[in-house]
Amino acid sequence: MASSLPRVTYSNIGVDFSAVFARLSTSIETALAAPAELHPNLIGGAWDLAGTQYEARSPIDGKLLGRFVEAGPAEVGRAVAAARQACRGWAATPWQERVALLRRVAERLEAHKFAVAAACLREVGKSFGEAMGEVEEAVDLVRYYCDEMERNDGFRRPLQRAVAIEETSDVLRPYGVFAVIVPFNFPVALGIGMLTGALVAGNAVVLKPSPFAGLTGGWLARLCEEAGLPAGVLNLVCGGAVTGQALVDHPDVAGYAFIGSHAVGTKILRSVAAGPFNRPVIIEMGGKNPSYVTASADLDVAAEGVMRSAFGLQGQKCSSGSKVYVARAVYDDFMWRLVERTAALKIAPPLQPEVFMGPVIDENAAMRYRKACEEAGRDGKIRFGGTRLSGGVHDGGAYLQPTIVEGLAPGHRLNKDELFLPFLSVQPYDRLEDAIADGNDVLYGLTAGAYATDEAELELFLDRAEAGALYANRASGATTGAWPGVQTFCGWKGSGVAGKGGLGPYYVPQFMREQSRTIMRSGSGK
Ligand code: NAD
Repeated sequence: MASSLPRVTYSNIGVDFSAVFARLSTSIETALAAPAELHPNLIGGAWDLAGTQYEARSPIDGKLLGRFVEAGPAEVGRAVAAARQACRGWAATPWQERVALLRRVAERLEAHKFAVAAACLREVGKSFGEAMGEVEEAVDLVRYYCDEMERNDGFRRPLQRAVAIEETSDVLRPYGVFAVIVPFNFPVALGIGMLTGALVAGNAVVLKPSPFAGLTGGWLARLCEEAGLPAGVLNLVCGGAVTGQALVDHPDVAGYAFIGSHAVGTKILRSVAAGPFNRPVIIEMGGKNPSYVTASADLDVAAEGVMRSAFGLQGQKCSSGSKVYVARAVYDDFMWRLVERTAALKIAPPLQPEVFMGPVIDENAAMRYRKACEEAGRDGKIRFGGTRLSGGVHDGGAYLQPTIVEGLAPGHRLNKDELFLPFLSVQPYDRLEDAIADGNDVLYGLTAGAYATDEAELELFLDRAEAGALYANRASGATTGAWPGVQTFCGWKGSGVAGKGGLGPYYVPQFMREQSRTIMRSGSGK
């Protein structure tokens, strides 16, 4: 029984998951044996093939995953119209019923979790642990946002009375149609997280997955259908920038939820702001996440956590650790531990549980890596890695060595830009406060980590680090590993906009607008 198996999270790295991974192996084999299919969009409750077809291939081996349909402006227009038609009834549905339906979505996802994880693994190139962890996170996300709706009694509350016969209440109400635009790297958890936030609040949704992630996008739509969501409440449109831009340009979209790069997020914000009226844009973007290893740290724990956060999912997490500052006194000790662990990582097609790193998503990422390694070799010193693997299974995709670099100047672009690659820059420091100030001196503010047993050092880190998610002394990841209701995930500075993040208590209200209702119950109305 699946339910008797342990649940993979990003934190429980010491658990024996062999039985879970055996189940996942079976699902992967089934998926590999099945023929690639044509995947329609879902518009107004009907599976729809209008639009230009395109192919998606697995980054693991280049095999065809399926054919998908790019929704152009006409198809996006129909999806928005269907959502608009459905949203009035959905908003009027008692919130308890919406919660009950979404809890059914979580149940259906849990029932299909191995098949969804297999699809995610194949389209993104995730390891077994990353793929299972993401689907478990997705299940918890739906449940957590439903819990939040219940904890807040549907976000309705009485207000104070100005006079005895006047009654005022405060209600949070949905906006209408939300466009949900998802990045490639966590297509299940982030897709379902955003759509649950919008739906539980009473909005209808047009979901646009990443063009790399149409398989899991289709899964999300089918799970909502299977759970019994009314037609038009959740619509699916596949495609890339053209489809996304058509959503951004559509005047009947009442709000946007976007997770992705800073460049695209900023473009969407500016496009929406230039429109005829202001609409909510809930945006989470990239990161340049530092960690700090002090002289009081347990260096084995620090090396393990830094390695995992830099190279897990091939460095393609918004929370990936991309630079580490190490107290000069322990620099050499830490470095050899880090290099030793990194050299032992298995980099291969992630079709066996022991593989830690699969391929990066595409050749563009491989090109960015080559350029970064060239610059690192010229302006610093590559301590480990720096090359693309080739020969045998490695020719099927872009398999990159995890790369550790030192000696780059603090202001070097490789220490400032989000690279989204298995690439880690290491710098020694003399004063922790200076290291933290330099770690903060980037566009982003998503996550940061520290390793210290000295309380004063920990306090300094917690007080000064400019990021929405802070971690200390974790072997499972220096800067990675958020979980619904456990670690909230808010992008500060260039990593976000709202000042309120996902996975926490302030997420769902962002999908609603406030209304106060004052009623005179009797008397003259004065
Ligand atoms: P991306 O910005 O390239 O694409 C994100 C989504 O936007 C995709 O669905 C894409 O098709 C769509 N898109 C592209 N152009 C568009 C346009 N003009 N209008 C509307 N939509 C458009 O990002 P990606 O490469 O898929 O994902 C990686 C990025 O996402 C990284 O920067 C990463 O840090 C970030 N990310 C952030 C978080 C977070 O929680 N802060 C989580 C995961 C990923």
